Amino acid sequence: MPDEPNEPEEIQPDYMIEGARSSRSKCKSCRKPILKDVLRLGILVEGPFGTGYMWHHLTCAAKRQWAKVEEAYTAEAWQHAKETPEDLPDLEDLRKLQEEAETKKKERKVIPYAEHDPSGRAKCKQSGEVIPKGALRVALGQEVEFGGQTRISAFLVLPGQVGAALMTPEIVAGKDMHPSELIAALKENSKSLSDDEMTGLIEAIGPLD
Ligand SMILES: [Zn+2]
Repeated sequence: MPDEPNEPEEIQPDYMIEGARSSRSKCKSCRKPILKDVLRLGILVEGPFGTGYMWHHLTCAAKRQWAKVEEAYTAEAWQHAKETPEDLPDLEDLRKLQEEAETKKKERKVIPYAEHDPSGRAKCKQSGEVIPKGALRVALGQEVEFGGQTRISAFLVLPGQVGAALMTPEIVAGKDMHPSELIAALKENSKSLSDDEMTGLIEAIGPLD
């Protein structure tokens, strides 16, 4: 029987876990397409144009939307799928993904920091010199306007160029940080450096005022 045109809409569950029915949806976490048959989590949202699902790779959701994944599993959201997915991971496996993502986040570098150059391919943004592989480099902050907000992105320089770089108004030691606080912050944020390396670094940076 054909649908009545004004038949009330079926109530949509808050969550849906299913294999993607096509490759057309995009993951709201990583912004990449969700390929057909890959597991996805739909989170029901009410938007200005109606109610619908925001899709995430199930694995991306585990990393960034853990509470929702737990709720979806509690609600057995795969029951709502047209075809119940067969390869559903255990919640415990997804929890591992979440924990890994959490650890990575904690290890994320905080500007300012110093580190050994890993590649030999980066250039000092102040002098334009190539930073030799293994040499110490300092990440200062560069204030960048992004969507009406000021963000701080890394501005990589050789230690001897730190003073000169900080003369540029957009270049800052770190977010809301006075240059005089730079050395203390570098010590705090550069855990991969030994004490001797840190001493050498401070000498190479030279006096800042
Ligand atoms: Zn994704």
